Amino acid sequence: SIARSSENGDVLPEMPYFNYTPAPYNGPSASDLLKRRREYLPTCLGPFYHNPLNLVEGKMQYLFDENGRRYLDAFGGIATVSCGHCHPDVVEAIVNQTRLLQHTTVVYLNRAVIDFAEALASKLPGELKVVFFTNSGTEANELALMIARLYSGCHDMISIRNGYHGNGAATMNATAQNFHKFNVVQTGIHHVLNPDPYRGVFGSDGLMYAKDVQDIIDYGTSGRVAGIIAEAIQGVGGVIEVAPGYLPAVYGIVRKAGGLCIADEVQSGFGRTGSYFWGFEAHGVVPDIVTVAKGIGNGAPIGAVVTTPQIAKVLTQRTYFSTFGGNPVSTAAGLAVLRVIEKEKLQENAFMVGSYLKDRLSLLMEKHEIIGDVRGRGMLLGVELVKDRELKTPAKAEMLEIMEQMKDMGVLVGKGGFCGNVIRITPPLCFTKEDSDFVVDVMDYAMSKM
Ligand code: PLP
Repeated sequence: SIARSSENGDVLPEMPYFNYTPAPYNGPSASDLLKRRREYLPTCLGPFYHNPLNLVEGKMQYLFDENGRRYLDAFGGIATVSCGHCHPDVVEAIVNQTRLLQHTTVVYLNRAVIDFAEALASKLPGELKVVFFTNSGTEANELALMIARLYSGCHDMISIRNGYHGNGAATMNATAQNFHKFNVVQTGIHHVLNPDPYRGVFGSDGLMYAKDVQDIIDYGTSGRVAGIIAEAIQGVGGVIEVAPGYLPAVYGIVRKAGGLCIADEVQSGFGRTGSYFWGFEAHGVVPDIVTVAKGIGNGAPIGAVVTTPQIAKVLTQRTYFSTFGGNPVSTAAGLAVLRVIEKEKLQENAFMVGSYLKDRLSLLMEKHEIIGDVRGRGMLLGVELVKDRELKTPAKAEMLEIMEQMKDMGVLVGKGGFCGNVIRITPPLCFTKEDSDFVVDVMDYAMSKM
């Protein structure tokens, strides 16, 4: 349904065939919804699409707008849709659980909650087997930071510049993004250098960045810290994987200072990076606390903190609960997602198709000077756009223009990065090679028109 030739007669890339016809839509139009959204749901996301789509249906890696036009969702919700939009097994699990029991309090037993906690724990190494469910990634990280502080008896916490950990009081402080200007409550976070191989001062030398953590502990604290929170691959920050050697060194430094190591796996977990189920595994470390959200529910709101029985005692000895955290419907969705990932070998697919997509994107660098870097793993990929490769000046306006053009041609991608100049590609893990070809061909065309 996407136009196949442009106004000037160019032949446009062909979207892969997909046998599905969306139901007719009789609801309000995009312009009507946009007008009402501006009034009732003002967004803090800033300038994005000039004309946002009115999306009415999703099917696997595709989305459909009000006119039945099909779009390839290369952003996968916001890296949330692991198995594909409205995957039948996930829908069935949600519907069945909704019919049986939507909610109960944590003082009672419920199978859906316990089944998913057990399944989630079974995917984690070592003693990481005590689960606290939450509703979001923010809530999971707030809880993880609190656990580390209670356990260590210490307030000072370390986080990495350019990381994103959420929008609660402590997580906003832990987040060091230039768009995140809400830090009204100071919560004792020390932001260390970003071990960013592309822009970082020490390039790919993970050990040099680790030295900065030691310096911060030595010069900025009593010598003891509650812990560190770190993504193995920064998602919102522009798909930046920590430099090799960094995490093992830093985990050693933090533990020596009495702290716990928190792996924020909200984006990099659940098979998305392909080679491993968790992002931290590629760095040979085992965290003390792991936080998850986004992709674990395929869109259902759910997050979790997983830690060891020893560390969990700081909460089990107190009364901690979340009204909706770990509700039966979301946990039923989580279990179904995990089963689909295993049954359909989606982690393996993320590795194979993701590597292919990354290779093709890297080849585009030879043709388009605007691409400064292509990076990431599996289906967590980033394409950083720069005005000039030497100075690495962010090409932010150009990126928005390219995104807009890609959308008009049927491909939806995300944006991120320290200056909003990184195209984020985080599709559902069922993405195919043909889908990847379409993304690259459309990006190539959009860049050629700049
Ligand atoms: N941690 C990471 C790595 C994230 O990417 C996000 C969201 O993008 C969060 C935490 C916060 O999760 P949520 O938006 O579900 O609160």
